[in-house]
Amino acid sequence: MRWQLRPLGPGAAALAAARNLWGPSCLPRRLGWQRTTGRLLVRSVTGASNQLPTPNSGKYRDTVLLPQTSFPMKLLGRQQPDMELEIQQKCGFSELYSWQRERKVKTEFCLHDGPPYANGDAHVGHALNKILKDIANRYHMMKGSKIHFVPGWDCHGLPIEMKVLSELGEKAQNLSAVEIREKARSFAEAAIEKQKSTFMRWGIMADWNNCYYTFDEKYEARQLRIFYKMYEKGLVYRAYKPVFWSPSSRTALAEAELEYNPEHVSRSIYVKFPVSKPSPVLASLLDGSCPVSVLVWTTQPWTIPANQAVCYMLDAKYAVVKCSNSGDIYILAADKVMSVASALETKFEVISTFLGADLENGTCTHPIFPNKVSPLLPASHVTMTKGTGLVHTAPAHGMEDYSVASQHNLSMDCLVNEDGVFTDVAGPELHNKAVLEEGTDVVIKMLQAAKNLLKEEKLVHSYPYDWRTKKPVVIRASKQWFVNIAEIKSTAKELLKKVKFIPGSALNAMVEMMDRRPYWCISRQRAWGVPIPVFLHKTKDEILINSQTVEHIIKLVEQHGSDIWWTLPPEQLLPKEVLSQVGGPDALEYVPGQDILDIWFDSGTSWSHVLPGTDQKADLYLEGKDQLGGWFQSSLLTSVAVRKKAPYKAVVVHGFTLGEKGEKMSKSLGNVVNPDVVINGGQDQSKEPAYGADVLRWWVAESNVFTEVTVGPSVLNAARDDISKLRNTLRFLLGNVSGFNPETHSIPAKDMYVIDQYMLHLLQDFANKITESYKQYDFGRVVRLLQAFYTRELSNFYFSIIKDRLYCENEDDPKRRSCQTALVEILDVIVRSFAPILPHLAEEVFQHIPYAKEPKSVFRTGWINTSSIWKKPGLEEAVESACAMRDSFLGSIPGRNAAEYQVVIVIEPGLLFEIMEMLQTQETSSTSQLNELMMASETTLLSQEPREVTADAVALTGTFVINLEGGDIHEESSYKVIVMPATKEKCPRCWKYTAESSDTLCPRCAEVVGGK
Ligand SMILES: [Zn+2]
Repeated sequence: MRWQLRPLGPGAAALAAARNLWGPSCLPRRLGWQRTTGRLLVRSVTGASNQLPTPNSGKYRDTVLLPQTSFPMKLLGRQQPDMELEIQQKCGFSELYSWQRERKVKTEFCLHDGPPYANGDAHVGHALNKILKDIANRYHMMKGSKIHFVPGWDCHGLPIEMKVLSELGEKAQNLSAVEIREKARSFAEAAIEKQKSTFMRWGIMADWNNCYYTFDEKYEARQLRIFYKMYEKGLVYRAYKPVFWSPSSRTALAEAELEYNPEHVSRSIYVKFPVSKPSPVLASLLDGSCPVSVLVWTTQPWTIPANQAVCYMLDAKYAVVKCSNSGDIYILAADKVMSVASALETKFEVISTFLGADLENGTCTHPIFPNKVSPLLPASHVTMTKGTGLVHTAPAHGMEDYSVASQHNLSMDCLVNEDGVFTDVAGPELHNKAVLEEGTDVVIKMLQAAKNLLKEEKLVHSYPYDWRTKKPVVIRASKQWFVNIAEIKSTAKELLKKVKFIPGSALNAMVEMMDRRPYWCISRQRAWGVPIPVFLHKTKDEILINSQTVEHIIKLVEQHGSDIWWTLPPEQLLPKEVLSQVGGPDALEYVPGQDILDIWFDSGTSWSHVLPGTDQKADLYLEGKDQLGGWFQSSLLTSVAVRKKAPYKAVVVHGFTLGEKGEKMSKSLGNVVNPDVVINGGQDQSKEPAYGADVLRWWVAESNVFTEVTVGPSVLNAARDDISKLRNTLRFLLGNVSGFNPETHSIPAKDMYVIDQYMLHLLQDFANKITESYKQYDFGRVVRLLQAFYTRELSNFYFSIIKDRLYCENEDDPKRRSCQTALVEILDVIVRSFAPILPHLAEEVFQHIPYAKEPKSVFRTGWINTSSIWKKPGLEEAVESACAMRDSFLGSIPGRNAAEYQVVIVIEPGLLFEIMEMLQTQETSSTSQLNELMMASETTLLSQEPREVTADAVALTGTFVINLEGGDIHEESSYKVIVMPATKEKCPRCWKYTAESSDTLCPRCAEVVGGK
């Protein structure tokens, strides 16, 4: 007998408790045993290997229980995409949405799909977006919610119209609005069909039979209703205002339709405006001997003809300076004297300084038109960052200029027409000249001739371009329809505080963008869209719109679509009672307006058409960060405008896709990743193999989607390799549960091997973290947790030690069944944990589960279900302390086979020894739980130094701290691990060095084989 003492004091109780929890069931149980040690990660020491029987291990091959499964280790070439198509068919991917809708469950999860543009093929940015949504939906569905996910398309708008027109070439010029609309519609329909089948191929679960389209009659009718509700509340109005105008598309554009070109070159100029009447203070500072001018700087010389004023900052300091080159007297901000003088390559002598307020009531002469007066006015938008501190103000060509003009009743006349050329009002010299080209040139020449140009130079700066035509836009005043954002903004911001933003910083970005938007111009001068339902008086500046006219139009649109605006004669667009009031059918004084609605207004009202229930509020909107100024915002503004609530409870914002090195994707760089090529392979399959959709999905999940997301060949290869490793893990699990029937063979948790119980304990912890990560939409963390679990906890640790038990014990041995019981649970949890990400692989695994009576769909059988019995205090202490010794042992024999060694563990009497004793009851054993963990031929557990040690023995020492009962029990024990080469021979069956001779079986194998 070995050492018989039992520890006294608190340790004894704890030990007894530990024994009761996972020891033999005959002992009394005690609950509530708490451990407080930090978890020591179980790891295998690389370098040590354990050799295991292979199918070639000679004459005992048939007595060894090797894994058996039809689940393929690898899918080569087309096998991967083909398998996915087969799985989609077999497992009913297309019926899953309606199946889950029909379930009787209480909770619903509504993810409202932001409509992609019905233009061109699906690209990798769509893949990122749609797959993220699908992962979220599949998780919530498995968790038990009914999913509401209706995909949609944004079908109207300039990009489609431009594409159709450019395809038609010269023929396009003679097309009527109706003809353009017909062609645009069929173009959009074709794009939708193509994109839809691509999205389905990615495995996206959705209501594909009931998608929403912004060109649907009912959708258009709803949208018009919202427009009118906003109009009635005074939130929509028509006004003459400066807006971004694209001469190349001949329409107004919204901020979201601009692209800023950082390399745009402008011709910036310094101009002097001769002072015609100085303010009284200024007059007192001047002796009147020479002329005085104010200096301005502008990057847009073509706006000078439209100048109506020069603005200054009320409380800034200004200076009167004398130019050393010309002797002229100038006025400019005191802070800008040095920089402007140096830009003009001269010196300024400061004569006197004064406050901006002292410029009040002064006037200047227009630098081109000497008969025109430009007053000096205070304005809050003047800054000292650029220019001279005195700002040229052209109300028709600047938003801030416009607000100064409205305050001071300045003229807002626009001298530029829809094509971006000067009108005849600009004068004969400028008439018909394009403002950004020849027009600029002529203006500069006129300034020169008037001797008011001081300098011209090229300036490279960021300038807005039309996102479609890629040509520069101008700011130009025109009659447009606007949403009064100022009225809604504060309510919208208040409501946003209750919306959960992921990442949190997106909220600020969205508020900032909203703040920057002075008003929202919602009218466009094109044909392909929803008409603004208003009639214009033929001669007077009057409009006709009221509830009767709008209701009538909405009814017509609901039945026939918005084409009626262009196909029906105007008198039919008006209800009879209104028609009689406005001249009757023969003398109708009004014509239908020609403006259509901004497509952001189209898509921004999708909540009213798509969201279910009376509440019409989605649980989640999930889009790219460009939507912070786009759809997230237009949806919020329309929803707040008509019903004072946000259309979403949470908003997830992802980044853009970039090339592998973080560069933009472009055809010229050749780095465009085409999702179809990713799935089916390219022309040269050695360079572009067929990865299948799961690789695409894995890439999406593992990426940090909250920043920019890179993709390219090496990223995709790595994703494939990751899945391949996961596949091997799954194959091991499937192979080793063959012949196991969970209903009859399972071992109760309390009777399982300590290490098997420990794995279930880890599994529960893993499952909780996985669930939490899905809940937070942190799919990258799901992937990291999964990878860590299957490589570290499973492949490197657990699988390496259980092979002997699985392969070499009797098929029905409780030791083996204990292990299989754990493997079944592990398999189930692992598959469910990645099912939302890799639905094809998950279903494929379920097709190969040997104990399933008939294969079930993983998606129709719920979420991870772990038992709380698995979470056991004390287990970790036992396994981790043994693993500390195991690491010492394996670390001492790098690259060698652990089975060629025997190990002696010496621990002084105490808690640690007691725990080890539970893993090995005999002093020396080759079949104990402790020896299994050590992977040695045999392990000897002693409480004192052995009397004899062989000369080639290596001794290692260490300590292990045990904290139990909330820290009440704290014991630090030292241990010694003595490693010696095995003295016995290699068993020809299990290859452990436990046989008496190399041609006889070890006692364990002899018993197993003999019993057969
Ligand atoms: Zn053996």
